[in-house]
Amino acid sequence: MLSCPRCQATLEPTALQCPRCSLPLKAHGHPGIPLHRTEGDEPLCATCLYDADDTCNFPQRPHAETCTLYRSIKAAEELAMPPLSLGEQIGFWLRNHRGVVGLLGLLLLSLVVVLVS
Ligand code: SF4
Ligand SMILES: [Zn+2]
Repeated sequence: MLSCPRCQATLEPTALQCPRCSLPLKAHGHPGIPLHRTEGDEPLCATCLYDADDTCNFPQRPHAETCTLYRSIKAAEELAMPPLSLGEQIGFWLRNHRGVVGLLGLLLLSLVVVLVS
């Protein structure tokens, strides 16, 4: 169950603001734009992926206390795919280079025919 970060009132997931203390919960009054808010003294930017990779150009960086684009480094790392094994890499390469593989197959077949005859 969601609760208000300021007054701990119970919230509906689609609430635009807290019904008790009126804290804005969504940006621009739109239910589809989440408004991320810092917890404690640390600004959001300290744990944001866009600060870490230096791609953010928001004026509130690096001291943002609320932000619509915040993306947690930790969450991004948890979603990152594990590295591919050598067999998977070879499989992807073969699938992406079917033309080259086909030509090499024809070349090999031609060599076998020439050597046998
Ligand atoms: S996207 Fe927001 S939280 Fe992230 S670095 Fe930029 S201003 Fe900070
Ligand atoms: Zn509240």
